[in-house]
Amino acid sequence: MYVSFAKCYFIIMAFSTWKPLITYITFYITKSFIMITHFIFYKLYFENYKRNLSINLKIYHCNDKMIYDVIIIGSGPAGYTAGIYSIRAGLKTIILEGVNYGGQLITTTDVYNFPGFPNGINGFELMENMRQQCINHGCILKSDDVTSVNLSGTPFLIFTNDERYESRSVIIATGATAKKLNIPNGEKFWNSGISACAVCDGALPIFRNKNLVVVGGGDTACEEALYLSKFGSKIYLLVRSDKMRASFCMKEKVAQCDKIEILYNTEVIDVSGNHMLEQIHIFNNITKEELTLNISGLFYAIGHVPNIAFLNAALKTGSNGYLLSDNTKTEIPGVFVCGDIQDYIYRQAITAAGSGCMAALEAEKYLINQ
Ligand code: NDP
Repeated sequence: MYVSFAKCYFIIMAFSTWKPLITYITFYITKSFIMITHFIFYKLYFENYKRNLSINLKIYHCNDKMIYDVIIIGSGPAGYTAGIYSIRAGLKTIILEGVNYGGQLITTTDVYNFPGFPNGINGFELMENMRQQCINHGCILKSDDVTSVNLSGTPFLIFTNDERYESRSVIIATGATAKKLNIPNGEKFWNSGISACAVCDGALPIFRNKNLVVVGGGDTACEEALYLSKFGSKIYLLVRSDKMRASFCMKEKVAQCDKIEILYNTEVIDVSGNHMLEQIHIFNNITKEELTLNISGLFYAIGHVPNIAFLNAALKTGSNGYLLSDNTKTEIPGVFVCGDIQDYIYRQAITAAGSGCMAALEAEKYLINQ
């Protein structure tokens, strides 16, 4: 329209003046300018409008009582990967990602062991990328917490505070939460020297050739201490009782490592430092003797709690509280689990993502056979 107006104006000008050449040159410059402006306007506004419109339409359908092919509960690497595979398989997919979406990585600073990022990536950015990838492929995302489920028959029913969702299959990926010590300044130094994952954070420069502490006496604590011994100058392993719960071979490995010193009957009183962690204050619960150690890192290895409360025992768990599964399949056909909620051994972002992929492929196979 703008181009047509401009064209008419300049054609009239061209024939009514005695300098047609200059007028024609001006005309073509102006025409190009208008077309470029038009193009930018289309890109910035109209395409955005179209995208918002399609998102709104999906949200409308999601409030409608439609039956989904797949409902994914949870939004760490497992949940988002399951979402990407599920939607790309042409399945109607919604991710109920929780109010605090993104899983444990969203509060992690740098992630150096996720393949594809040679210089590492910020945990928040990694999860935002996965989330955006789900959106780009057409997944519906709702930032609501699931409060309960009914898996006794199909369609499966999933409840949040405000909504009831129905689905032909369900993938559960709500992860596990690392237990933290309840010490006064624990939160202040979380991610500033305190971590609950040596494999994720142990190789960071702030921990290299420094004194480090691991708290716990199980297999995880042994593994973390051994892993950290590659980077730290000295590793103190604090065990609150007079014996370690870890398996025999793990205890043997720890005993053979010169860099690790085990302090039995030792508990943490508090931590201190300026901006970063600098000291840990401990006490011996037998002698009551208190001690301050100069350290740069404190790693909790006191267990994880799988996030299964909302399931209200609808699925079987092992004696350690983790959900039982066979290649992501649960005892209920059509219900799958992936990520840390069923993995007490590896607990890595990449293994969670891998199991998310497996769960979506299993869900697809299940739905095809229905
Ligand atoms: P565990 O529950 O086995 O051990 C937790 C440890 O933390 C215990 O020593 C416990 O002490 C201690 N602890 C708990 N709360 C506190 C606290 N508030 N203050 C101080 N210490 C505390 O957990 P893990 O994560 O080590 O292991 C979980 C499961 O995973 C186990 O079955 C383990 O075998 C398995 N695993 C296997 C691996 C492998 O095979 N490679 C590797 C890692 C884990 P206390 O003993 O006094 O209760």
